[in-house]
Amino acid sequence: MNVMDTEHELLHIVMDKSLSLLEERKNNDVCCPHCFEVAKENCLRCDICTQVYHQQCSGLTSEVFDSLVDIIRHTGWVCLDCRTKTCSMLNAFRVALTQIQEELADMRTTMAW
Ligand SMILES: [Zn+2]
Ligand SMILES: [Zn+2]
Repeated sequence: MNVMDTEHELLHIVMDKSLSLLEERKNNDVCCPHCFEVAKENCLRCDICTQVYHQQCSGLTSEVFDSLVDIIRHTGWVCLDCRTKTCSMLNAFRVALTQIQEELADMRTTMAW
């Protein structure tokens, strides 16, 4: 075996290795966190948690899904879970903000004295 042959052999090993890696990745399908089934078609990826949901698991009707799918490709989509989380975070923030505003108003009245 000369140097050329060894190199050739090595190249084959590397190619085989990367091909099998690609194959593995292909088999490693994304699953919908709602029903734990493979999510391939009619799916939406959440922009926040990057989980992939089926249309029927996303809480959207197929009509809404069909009309949204083109828009979502440009704007992105957020799953119900994340929307609820962001919503409660926003609510907590609003409550905190009201408290600060009340405290500020109190301070102003104290200072006016
Ligand atoms: Zn699903
Ligand atoms: Zn999400």
